[in-house]
Amino acid sequence: RRVLLEEATPSLRGKIGKVPSGLRGKRKRILVTGGAGFVGSHLVDRLIERGDSVIVIDNFFTGRKENLFHHFGNPNFELIRHDVVEPILLEVDQIYHLACPASPVHYKFNPTNVVGTLNMLGLAKRVGARFLLTSTSEVYGDPLQHPQAETYWGNVNPIGVRSCYDEGKRTAETLTMDYHRGAGIEVRIARIFNTYGPRMCLDDGRVVSNFVAQALRKEPLTVYGDGKQTRSFQYVSDLVEGLIRLMEGEHVGPFNLGNPGEFTMLELAQVVQETIDPNAKIEYRPNTEDDPHKRKPDISKAKELLGWQPSVSLRKGLPLMVSDFRQRIFGDSKDALG
Ligand code: NAD
Ligand code: UDP
Ligand code: UDP
Repeated sequence: RRVLLEEATPSLRGKIGKVPSGLRGKRKRILVTGGAGFVGSHLVDRLIERGDSVIVIDNFFTGRKENLFHHFGNPNFELIRHDVVEPILLEVDQIYHLACPASPVHYKFNPTNVVGTLNMLGLAKRVGARFLLTSTSEVYGDPLQHPQAETYWGNVNPIGVRSCYDEGKRTAETLTMDYHRGAGIEVRIARIFNTYGPRMCLDDGRVVSNFVAQALRKEPLTVYGDGKQTRSFQYVSDLVEGLIRLMEGEHVGPFNLGNPGEFTMLELAQVVQETIDPNAKIEYRPNTEDDPHKRKPDISKAKELLGWQPSVSLRKGLPLMVSDFRQRIFGDSKDALG
């Protein structure tokens, strides 16, 4: 059963404030775990803009309060410092579960994917909320099928250095489907492919943030391996649109959400050179273990069932993150936090 605002306890209604009559029955109470992070904060912007009440829980492991400063003081916004590995009691209609140490540098450190997802599913079950899991293209591992469709089961090393992340997300998907089938909760699963944009973590070692920061600092761009491995890069606003469509739609998924444009790391380096500094040098470094050779989403399912496809190309999207990065690195730009 979905818990609507009208059914909330008087004390809770008091907290949320009077609902304008136009919005009554429409404004949702939405929990975004990991909402202080890169993707989460852009999602929060859209939900607040739409007129929803948003609660963010985040332990600031990789997220930053600065990403949400502009909502402080808004009665429809609440930020709670909390680790999703611990249980929590809240009353909400929808849960976007993003909390997760998401980069190779950070994700070895905790069991968020399993224990955190279990807690959020328990919460969804108790209050009858709809639950959306942000899974990842990493569930496909080093894929033997190209491009990857949702029907592909993946090629993952269960004991490799990345397994805490990819097996963690695979387990999270399993838990999500178990709660759906066993407890009847409404769930949605997104498999997100590499996403970039303003507010990306500066130092988490992802290739786009590394190259952009390196070019701005006049350092060489570090290409791992021979640079011929491929990835597909999605601009964050396209992802947020896809997540919202998925949550509001009728289909469980999983759905690939990514941009099918495929680039080698050398091609990416070239786009960064064209965008920021044509004289930026390239420096080759050894690649990490178990690095997938290629990755590109098949998004036919999302196109057909969600009516969604990305609209921002790499060449259009990359410049949109440069002013934010410049501001955070040098503190000299006027238009920060795009
Ligand atoms: P991010 O690191 O910016 O955001 C993750 C947020 O979760 C951070 O704010 C962090 O502080 C918070 N967090 C981590 N562990 C927590 C815990 N135990 N309790 C509470 N909060 C916690 O990363 P992002 O890129 O915004 O990723 C968001 C989600 O999307 C993640 O689930 C990630 O796995 C998924 N995803 C992202 C990408 C991508 O390219 N950005 C690709 C695939 C999947
Ligand atoms: N949980 C939570 N908030 C809630 C309800 C549950 O954090 O509002 C946690 C709960 O502590 C448990 C997990 O979610 O660790 C799974 O809950 P569920 O009720 O499914 O399992 P059970 O507690 O029956 O094992
Ligand atoms: N990579 C690179 N230089 C860097 C960081 C990463 O060439 O400074 C490579 C990395 O080896 C991988 C690709 O870029 O092949 C994408 O890495 P990222 O960590 O951004 O994403 P993921 O591997 O999770 O798709």
